Amino acid sequence: MPQKKTTVLAASSPVTALPGISETRGALFSKLGIETLADLVTHYPRAYEFRGKTASVVEAAESAGRGETVSLILTVGTQPKVTTIRRGMVLTRFTAFDETGSVQITYFNQPYLRDAFAVGTTHRFFGRCERGVGGRLAMNTPGHEPLPPGDPGDGSTLPAICPIYRTTSGLTRKLLTDAVSRALDALYPPDAEHPDPLPYALLREEGLCGRTYAVERIHRPENEAALDAARKRLIFEELLLFALSLRIRRAQSEARTARPMHAPDMQRFYDRLPYTLTGAQMRAIDAFLHDMTARPSPMNRLLSGDVGSGKTVCAAAALYVALENGCQAAMMAPTEILARQHYDDLSPLFAVLGYECALLVGATKPKEKSQIKARLADGTLPLVIGTHALLEENVVFADCGLVITDEQHRFGVSQRAALAKKAENVHTLIMSATPIPRTLALMLFGDLDMSVLDELPPGRQRVQTFAVDESYRDRLNGFIRKQAEAGHQVYIVCPAIDEGEEEPIPGEAVQTRPTMKAAVAYARELSERVFPDLPVGFLHGKMRPAEKEAIMRRFAAGELLILVSTTVIEVGVNVPTATLMVVENAEYFGLSQLHQLRGRVGRGRDKSWCILVSDKKGEDAGQRLDILCKTANGYEVAERDLEMRGPGDFFAADPAGVSWEVRQSGGLRFDIASFCDDVEFLRRAFSAADAIIAADPMLEREEHAALREALMGRFGALIL
Ligand code: ADP
Ligand code: MG
Repeated sequence: MPQKKTTVLAASSPVTALPGISETRGALFSKLGIETLADLVTHYPRAYEFRGKTASVVEAAESAGRGETVSLILTVGTQPKVTTIRRGMVLTRFTAFDETGSVQITYFNQPYLRDAFAVGTTHRFFGRCERGVGGRLAMNTPGHEPLPPGDPGDGSTLPAICPIYRTTSGLTRKLLTDAVSRALDALYPPDAEHPDPLPYALLREEGLCGRTYAVERIHRPENEAALDAARKRLIFEELLLFALSLRIRRAQSEARTARPMHAPDMQRFYDRLPYTLTGAQMRAIDAFLHDMTARPSPMNRLLSGDVGSGKTVCAAAALYVALENGCQAAMMAPTEILARQHYDDLSPLFAVLGYECALLVGATKPKEKSQIKARLADGTLPLVIGTHALLEENVVFADCGLVITDEQHRFGVSQRAALAKKAENVHTLIMSATPIPRTLALMLFGDLDMSVLDELPPGRQRVQTFAVDESYRDRLNGFIRKQAEAGHQVYIVCPAIDEGEEEPIPGEAVQTRPTMKAAVAYARELSERVFPDLPVGFLHGKMRPAEKEAIMRRFAAGELLILVSTTVIEVGVNVPTATLMVVENAEYFGLSQLHQLRGRVGRGRDKSWCILVSDKKGEDAGQRLDILCKTANGYEVAERDLEMRGPGDFFAADPAGVSWEVRQSGGLRFDIASFCDDVEFLRRAFSAADAIIAADPMLEREEHAALREALMGRFGALIL
C-alpha cells in the first residue's frame, strides 16, 4: 500500500488523510455526510450487536431456525471454495467447527473472503443458525472477526458489543468501522485533554459522564452500562446545544426591528371568502395582526395545523396585511406541486383584492422568470409564490414585508440560511401540517411564537381507516376497482427505499423485513395485470419535476384513476375527488406520516377510506396501526406516537429512509438525539439550556467557552 504522507491528523483533516481511504472512497464517505475526521467521530452507530455471549455448536443447533442470533467461536476446517452459481451470484463456502460440532458457512458475493479464512484459524461468527440441506447446521453471511493473538481461544478479547453504522453501497461495514476507529485513535489518544462543552457543575448535577469517555464508549462500549452512560451524555449534549440555539435565535429575533405596519380593513378580506372562518383560524389571524402591527420586532411565528385545518386562508390573511401596508410579500413551498397549488388557490383571491400574484418555480420559462425578477426588484409585482427558486441570489425585492414558508423543515440548512439573510427584518410565518404533541412543540419551537389550528372547518367527514394484511389482497383490489369504476381516484403509496444503501444486520434485518412493495415493479404489476383496463399512473421522488407535475395534473383531472407513488405526494396535495388511500408496508411509516397520507383523501364530499396494508407481525406494529384506525385527530395520533416511541422519533429519520424531521425550522439532522426515549430527559436538557441562557445570555463566561465553541460548530450557520 502506498504510504500516505505523515501529517498530523486533526479534527478538520479530510477522511482521505487516513491510510486506505482514496479520493474515490472519500466520495462514498461524502455521501454519508462525512468529510472530516470530526465527522467520522460523530458518525454514531445506528445500532449495536451484542456478540459477547457465545454458544457452542450443540447449543446453537437447539435453537436453529428460531431466528435468534448467536455468536460461535469456530475454527475453519475446510479450504473456502468459491463457486459462481449464476451471473452476479458468487458463493464462498467452508466448514468450521468447535468441540461439539460443525457448521457450514456461506458468504454471498464476497469471493475475497477466501483469503480471510485459512484452515486452522479461529474466528467469532455472529448470525443466525439454520438447518440447511440434509439437516446440516448452516450460517449465511455471518459477521466475522478473527480471534486476536493472545486470545485464550474463547473470544474473550474481542469486543462484546459491536457497532453498526449507517453506511452506503460500496462502503463495507468493516471499512467504515475501521475508519471511525482510526479517527478516534487520532483525535482521542489515551492521554489527550479535551475541553468538555458541558460545564462540570452541569455534568455533576445531571449525573453525566465526560465527553471524551462518551465518544470513546459510544463507538467501543465495553459493556451495556458504559454504552448507556455514553449515549445519555451525548444525547443530552445534542439536545442542550439544540435548545441553546433556539433560545439564542429567539433573542436575536426579538432584538431586530421590523418596519411598523398598521392594521388594515380585514372585513374587506373576510367578505371575499366563501365560508366563515373557524374560531381557531380567527385566533391565528388575530395573532398575526398583533405580531405585525403591535410589536417592534418582526413576526416570527409558526402556524401549525392538521391537514385540512385551513392554514392557507390564514396565510392569505397575513399576506393581505403586508400588501395593504404597501409591502411586497412572498410565499415559498418545498415542491413545485405545492407552490402551484398555493398559487392556484391564492391568485384568484388576490386578483379580486387588487393584487397581482406571480408563480416562480424551477420550470418557469427563463423569459418569464427574468420578467418576474425585474418586477420584484422594481416593486411593481406585489406578490410572488414559488419554490426555493425564490432564494436565488438574483431574486431581489424592492420592499418585502412578509415571507411565508410552507413546510419549512423540508428545506435544507443552506436554503434556510439564505432565506434568513434575505428576510432579515421581515415578518416571517412558517406553516406546518405535522401535528406534534404540545409538550414537544413548546420545546422544539422555542424560538418561535406558535398558533395551532386545533379545530377543523365544519362538515368534514372522518376517513374510515382499516389495517389489513396480505390475506385481504383480493378484496382490497376489488375495492380499489370499485372506487375507480365509480370515477373516484385512488392513491397507493409504497415506502421509498434506496435498495442497497444499508448493509443489513447479519442474520437479522434481511429476514425480518417483509418484502417491500418496490414501487416501480408494483406499479407495473397493477397496470398490466390487476387493472389492465384502468388508467394507472406512477410517481416517484427521482422523477423530473415536469414529469411529476404532468402525472399529478392528470390524476387531479381524473384521467388517471389509480396513482402508485412513493411519498412524494405526502404533503399538501389536494385532489378532492380522491376517496381511497392505500398504504403498502404501512409499518415502515411513522404514525404521523401515515396520518398525513390519510389526509390526502376525504377532502371532498364523498365518503373516503384509508387502508393500511401490513404483514408485519408483532404487537408493536399492530398496536401502532390500531391507533390510526381509532383516532382521527392528528394531534392525538402524535401524542400516542410520543407515548409509544418516545421523543427520539420526532428527531429521527424514518426506518424507510424517509426523513421527516419535525423540527420545522431547523432542517437539521440529529446525530444521536433520535435515541432519546424519555420526555423527562428532553425536558431537563431544555431547562438546563434555559438556566445557562438566563445566567449568561451570550455564553461569554469562561466556563462556557467550550460550550460556545461547540454550539457555533454545530448551529453557527443558523445562529449567525
Ligand atoms: P391545510 O391546512 O391542510 O393547508 P387548506 O388550507 O388547504 O388546509 O384547506 C382545506 C380546505 O378547507 C380548502 O378547500 C379550504 O378552502 C377549506 N376551508 C378552509 N377554511 C375553511 C372554513 N373555515 N370553512 C370551510 N372550509 C374551509
Ligand atoms: Mg396546505
